[in-house]
Amino acid sequence: MHVNPPALLLRMVCVAGALAAARTGRAAAEGFDIARGGRSLCSIVVNHGAFASAEEASAASDKVDWFGADSAGATICTESFAATELRHYLCAITGLDPEDPSNFPIRGDQEDVAGNVIIVGNELSNRQCARFRGDLGFIREGSLSPGPEGFRLRTARKGDGEALLLAGFDRVGTLYAVYDLLNLCGVRWFAPGLSGEVVPHQAELGIPGIDRTDAPKFAVRGYWAEFFNSENDFVRPVGKKGTIGFFNWMARNRMNLWSSGEEGVPPGEMKKRGLHLSAGGHTFYTLIDPRAPYPYRHSRFAGSSGQPADDPYPVSPNFRGDENGDGVLSYSEAHPEWYGLGPDGKRHFTTDPFGYNFCTSNHEMVTEFLKNLVEKLARGEWKYADYLDWWPEDADHWCECDECKKLGSPTDRNLLMAHLIREGLKQAVADGRLRRDIKVKFLIYSSAGVIDPPTRPLPAGFDYDGVMGTFFPIFRCYVHTLDDPACTEFNLHYFNDLNAWRSSPYYKGKFMIGEYYNISYFRDLPILFTRTMEHDIRFYYKGGARAMHYMHVPIGNWGPRALTNYQFARMLWDPATDVPGLLGEYFQLRYGSARDPMRDFYASLERAMINIPEYLCTPSDDESLGGQLRAFADGKTTKLFPYRHLRMSGDHPAPDDGPSMEDSVRELDRCERLMDQALMVPVDDRVRGCIVEDEGLFRYAAATVRLYFHMARSTEHPLKSPEWTREMKLAALQAEYLDSHPVGFVAVYGGTNGMMRNALESTGIKDVYLKWRAMMQ
Ligand SMILES: [Zn+2]
Ligand SMILES: [Zn+2]
Repeated sequence: MHVNPPALLLRMVCVAGALAAARTGRAAAEGFDIARGGRSLCSIVVNHGAFASAEEASAASDKVDWFGADSAGATICTESFAATELRHYLCAITGLDPEDPSNFPIRGDQEDVAGNVIIVGNELSNRQCARFRGDLGFIREGSLSPGPEGFRLRTARKGDGEALLLAGFDRVGTLYAVYDLLNLCGVRWFAPGLSGEVVPHQAELGIPGIDRTDAPKFAVRGYWAEFFNSENDFVRPVGKKGTIGFFNWMARNRMNLWSSGEEGVPPGEMKKRGLHLSAGGHTFYTLIDPRAPYPYRHSRFAGSSGQPADDPYPVSPNFRGDENGDGVLSYSEAHPEWYGLGPDGKRHFTTDPFGYNFCTSNHEMVTEFLKNLVEKLARGEWKYADYLDWWPEDADHWCECDECKKLGSPTDRNLLMAHLIREGLKQAVADGRLRRDIKVKFLIYSSAGVIDPPTRPLPAGFDYDGVMGTFFPIFRCYVHTLDDPACTEFNLHYFNDLNAWRSSPYYKGKFMIGEYYNISYFRDLPILFTRTMEHDIRFYYKGGARAMHYMHVPIGNWGPRALTNYQFARMLWDPATDVPGLLGEYFQLRYGSARDPMRDFYASLERAMINIPEYLCTPSDDESLGGQLRAFADGKTTKLFPYRHLRMSGDHPAPDDGPSMEDSVRELDRCERLMDQALMVPVDDRVRGCIVEDEGLFRYAAATVRLYFHMARSTEHPLKSPEWTREMKLAALQAEYLDSHPVGFVAVYGGTNGMMRNALESTGIKDVYLKWRAMMQ
């Protein structure tokens, strides 16, 4: 696709130059020629170590010990990858043949390379960069240091030519410096895959003198990934199925957080791209699974003599041997007192994510828990994790024994566990059982009973550098921003909770935000958040959040959600991102001559869909519109709209005003006309692919919303009356469309794929529909 690159480039570089002058007070050097007259005018210089080429060093990601002392090997791999990315896109922009090695040749840093050079790496990793120390200053020290994952781009004189320095604070910063340069050249990565990529074609390519420093504002930027087998099987998520195309998109947009347990791509390829991996979740009950064999020789159970180690713990006062008589002593039989005590006076042996938490006041339980945790992180399923998400059970069930009660509220106990886990992991590093420093994130979340701030001082020595809290406003409203005082029914609670933490006299640590821009409840519908995201991400940042992710991103087929992901990435890098500018550029570059109808289509789609979470899950399963329709069908309610946020029609003044069902359907009719207009515009294949992808998600959304609409309208009439039948016939048209579409059509491993058989099941009201359908004459 052809944009107007010189204008684009000049505008951006002027901005960059102004920034540089403000920062350094020194004039930038002369300009830097990259290509002219069908010839490449520069070499790329990188340290590719002992490998024969940068390509080989980049490909050897499985040979690098990413978690060990081999940081030089890690740097060589990532910076070599950065050099190959740079060469690939310089060839693509200029149209020069990548098969011809004389085009932007990549040279090792041990050679003196004549002429113009682009130096990839900093003064520690790249010998050629070190020669410019006087110009560059030390990237890792002093007031000019950008800090972790930051970088400096600078042109400098080099005797026989010019140098363009792409120097990261660290290996990932260097990779981001390459992507920043390509961004300045007009390359955009809106979505994974070729159709999501915009590369300007420009045979004459150069950069004016530049000195630009940049770094991420949010240190942690990415996704919480989990994919489910079925709606009723949250226990065993299916493996994560990321693709190289998806992780390329993440790296090129400088996103750095994914989940461990990835099965689609080897860990080295993710580490090479700067990704940090999270492990944990509501699965800690598996660490001392009550059904698992007690792994020690128990003094009072002969059947355990084959175990490798003596029992390190005293015999439980409640010991009653092999109670279920299966010949094996289980953890819960050996130590029932390690498990949560319920109000019924019984210990609860949890085997799923919705049960009782352990008895956290029990020191022996904590010792065994930490031992098994370290093993899982060192050699088990979580061996590639950089972060541990310490989440208690997804239910407010906390041990009611006297010793636990003395420890305070669920939040107090949760923070104590987070502290013990962090200290346990540090100890494991100190005594060699674990080879990497793993940071701990704890949960601030209503469903687990830990949304309130602590009620007492934190444990002495609480490590604020290694522990942070993640705030999850689950089932929030997106009609309103999180701090909008007009959202008294839903968001005000979350706003108050967050404020209570921020003003806590006891917790003084960092926050992460866990948003829900594609939570599985949203069924991969194309809900857009450009307006609330613009406000909320800045609000979170001002409130001290320096880390953010959302669940559950799909791997491909994003359609309109490409805009959500792109805006999310840009704003996590810099919350002050000019969002109207970003949107204007997005529609121009992604849709070319169809930009006008597509921009209007997106604006209309955002208005149509913004209240749809209240059909699906807000403020809870039961109280959402879907839940109310079910209750209505069961004769348990006559009222479909218990909240002011959603109603069938009419005016809806503030507070708590959201688009009515009629408003949404009218907007969807408008979307349909705009989509038809866009489809008529002659465009190239890439743009056509983007529009058709949007169309697929739009048709799914329109049918889903109209199904809800006609079923809700049918409730205004007596069952089986002519008016009721008319609405149900209209509902049936939508249902039949949905029933014939597999969800894979719109979702690629997002919230719903593999979980739902087809788009009708995804609506969440198939059961109600079938019940009424059966009553139709
Ligand atoms: Zn207890
Ligand atoms: Zn609201």
